[in-house]
Amino acid sequence: MKKERECFYCELPFNKLTVRTWDHFYPKSKFKGLTYSRVPCCRGCNSFKRALPPAQFLEKLEVIRENVKTLINIKGGLYDI
Ligand SMILES: [Zn+2]
Repeated sequence: MKKERECFYCELPFNKLTVRTWDHFYPKSKFKGLTYSRVPCCRGCNSFKRALPPAQFLEKLEVIRENVKTLINIKGGLYDI
């Protein structure tokens, strides 16, 4: 288990913009009785994941990471804002 200071999914450190929430990696609605799957994650990832099953969410997370990498390459780097 990662430190609770960064998002379990996107690995951004928690701050005012990336507020820490808790997510059930295995949605409670579909996996009743699994209490150990709680992970710290930012509000953005949490709302993006919603009640998706883990495999489906990880697939979408891959697409987002690829899109971000492509955008950064097009722009020639990350802007420091
Ligand atoms: Zn996140």
